[in-house]
Amino acid sequence: MRYVDEFRDPSLIRQAAAEVRRLAHPDRHYRIMEVCGGHTHAIYRFALEELLPSNIELIHGPGCPVCVLPMGRIDDALAVAEREGAILTAFGDVMRVPGRGGTPLAHRARGADVRMVYSPLDALKLAESERDRHVIFFAIGFETTAPSTALTVQRARAREVGNFSVFANHVTIIPAIRAILDSPDMRLDGFIGPGHVSTVIGCRPYGFVADDHRKPIVVSGFEPLDVLQSIVMILRQLGDGRSAVENQYGRAVPWDGNAAALRAMADVFELRPYFEWRGLGFISQSALRIRADYARWDTERRFDIAGVRVTDPMAAQCGEVLKGVLKPHQCKLFGTECTPERPVGALMVSSEGACAAYHTYAIRRTRAGVR
Ligand code: SF4
Repeated sequence: MRYVDEFRDPSLIRQAAAEVRRLAHPDRHYRIMEVCGGHTHAIYRFALEELLPSNIELIHGPGCPVCVLPMGRIDDALAVAEREGAILTAFGDVMRVPGRGGTPLAHRARGADVRMVYSPLDALKLAESERDRHVIFFAIGFETTAPSTALTVQRARAREVGNFSVFANHVTIIPAIRAILDSPDMRLDGFIGPGHVSTVIGCRPYGFVADDHRKPIVVSGFEPLDVLQSIVMILRQLGDGRSAVENQYGRAVPWDGNAAALRAMADVFELRPYFEWRGLGFISQSALRIRADYARWDTERRFDIAGVRVTDPMAAQCGEVLKGVLKPHQCKLFGTECTPERPVGALMVSSEGACAAYHTYAIRRTRAGVR
């Protein structure tokens, strides 16, 4: 398959891994963060850490939107879903995220009308076919999914679908990277930049990473060769004493992003003054809310949202894993009380969550006797 097979070619992968070993200075320890959960998934799936020398440490970043969602947002959405005539719609992974009162799936089992959809347009179509009900779409994701939500809201207005609204939980990646760089306990040498988000925002917004913080950042694809090439590019910059934004994923990421997607987002959304991220706390201007022009399609303006705040269970160490301080298997609940079948934290829910990816692939390899 074009753009897949050549990026999984074993001989090219071996060459890239050899180049990583050649470039990594034996007296230095490198801490490189992969910002995006898609990269975390690829790293575990293809056992890429096994190909790296021991002095290269990959730190999992906050780029899994389900993982950074605070529990209270689930409870807020479920409270709206319990209203007479309401239908709550959400993507499949959100259905399994625990709130204080259980997951959306558990609420459905208790009688609430909670339905899984594959896109916001599915939710809008449902609203058009159920005119006497109010359909709420639980919108989640970075700039990758925000444009499709924005286009759906525009379409709802164009078609005058008044029984549809969006509970917006979209977050933006740049403030999160900034918060990580400003964190005193975060020592990083470089970043594997997010690929999906960058198809929308492009590469320019990462300039501050290289210019102000003097760290290399390489926007990367998701195949094994992509990730290894990105590490090579980071090591080359470090070896040369440079810091720049580079684009390894040129086949999908335009340097200036996707103008049409950015226009739709700017029309429908504005930045919230602040938003809570699980594990990272409140980050200013890090999330999107629906503009007043589209108030009719904003769940938070149409309904009284409590703004529930819920702390994680005491033993759960999701925050430390999200900040890269702990590896997934170092959490006290990993693999015992917290598993993909019975997740305690959201990192065990989404396939992009570090705990779910580690559990799925590392344990499978261990059982198969593969190092
Ligand atoms: S194992 Fe579960 S509780 Fe522990 S960090 Fe991962 S998701 Fe959170």
